[in-house]
Amino acid sequence: MIPPVLPTYNRAPLSFVRGEGSWLVATDGRRYLDLGAGIAVNALGHAHPALIQALTDQAAKVWHVSNVYTIPEQERLAELLVDRTFADTVFFTNSGTETAELAIKMARKFHYEAGQPERTEIIAFEGAFHGRSTGAIAAAGSEKMVKGYGPLMPGFTHLKWPATEADHAAIRAAITDRTCAVMIEPIQGEGGIRVVPDQCLKGLRDLCDSTGTLLIFDEVQCGMGRTGKLFAHEWAGVSPDIMMVAKGIGGGFPLGAVLATERAALCMTAGSHGSTYGGNPLGCAVGAKVTEIVSDPAFLAEVARKGALFRQGLESLVARHPTVFQAVRGEGLMLGLKCTPAPTDLVKAGYSAGVLTVAAADNVLRLLPALNIPDADIAEALARLDQAATSLAQAA
Ligand SMILES: *Cc1c(COP(=O)(O)O)cnc(C)c1O
Repeated sequence: MIPPVLPTYNRAPLSFVRGEGSWLVATDGRRYLDLGAGIAVNALGHAHPALIQALTDQAAKVWHVSNVYTIPEQERLAELLVDRTFADTVFFTNSGTETAELAIKMARKFHYEAGQPERTEIIAFEGAFHGRSTGAIAAAGSEKMVKGYGPLMPGFTHLKWPATEADHAAIRAAITDRTCAVMIEPIQGEGGIRVVPDQCLKGLRDLCDSTGTLLIFDEVQCGMGRTGKLFAHEWAGVSPDIMMVAKGIGGGFPLGAVLATERAALCMTAGSHGSTYGGNPLGCAVGAKVTEIVSDPAFLAEVARKGALFRQGLESLVARHPTVFQAVRGEGLMLGLKCTPAPTDLVKAGYSAGVLTVAAADNVLRLLPALNIPDADIAEALARLDQAATSLAQAA
């Protein structure tokens, strides 16, 4: 018999009653060190006092008003984001998936309004994840996500993940007079913590500039301080025309945002897009507090330092468990361990060791802790991961 909750997830028999920083407390009182952070959502850990304050202050004032009115909390967050990024303007959503929808719509409308309505094709990449709407699954194109859901939204070409000069030549060859945009995660999350080399991001920007193609970065997972810069593309010194943001920006409150340059966004006039909840006062009040904290250069420097510390420990872990781990990947606190056994086996071993991790594609175990994880918790995380790996090595 089908359970009351539609069983689209393979859920672990674990439930939590409370969170404290990098820790989650289960119903049986056991404490788990959370290296998943709700899949890069709880950017400041659980129950951060400043976020509780922002949410409860706003909750006592007004929860929701329609977007037919001016929403000051929304304007404040938009100004913060515009001030701290390449962007000139922001549209708020409730999720990452919705940012994919607007990014696709904006890119197509840009060319339509520019008198080139035939430019509708979007180049995306193998291993990508952009969400679960019919548009977002067509954009990512993986068999696993699209099977049974056809007919898919047309207009997407999927290329190999760019890492080499030859991959760039393939992108160059794929851009035609019908190409509208290139859509890419600077670091693939679900795809297995695959980093686009800086040179490749620069090359993509040049390719887009020379062909009038819009560049869309999906920073839903790698953005909001995760890599030690506010956004991952800043490492390469290039910026997109349109950027998708979600996950960490709400610190646990559902919130997403599409950031864009004025040039890319001018096509979106009154009535061209909308959302009932998007930019809700509660979400924006929390989002502004998260953005304020995370965009502080001192905070970002700490993320980079903690990332380097964690990475160093993970390198030793790999050296100690050569039959379990092959390599460390990632940037800042967006880290992955390439595994020999199935990463889901490590996730399970982690439950026994009291540490929460997330599996990804490409046989990778993801580590996405809170950005403010204390050094002592990083040390504890390494000890617990060591314990999980030891139990697997013994079982093998
Ligand atoms: C999670 C994710 C999405 C989808 O976000 P939802 O909030 O689940 O809709 C899109 N892109 C990337 C890179 C993601 O990691």
